[in-house]
Amino acid sequence: METGIQPPAGTSDGQGWCHWHDGPSGTARLVDAHERQSGPPVALYACAPCREQRGLPVRLEAS
Ligand SMILES: [Zn+2]
Repeated sequence: METGIQPPAGTSDGQGWCHWHDGPSGTARLVDAHERQSGPPVALYACAPCREQRGLPVRLEAS
């Protein structure tokens, strides 16, 4: 059932949310988006522990 815990407002852009453990995180960073065969790539955020466990690369902002 629902836990009643919901992400705070203003985080719809994904920052502050880890898509790997599906919970809020203060260390979430944008990682390389999953490429799909159709549609645009999906931006995913992962927190530091999840990135370490899975070896996720942080997407560096290109300028
Ligand atoms: Zn996480």
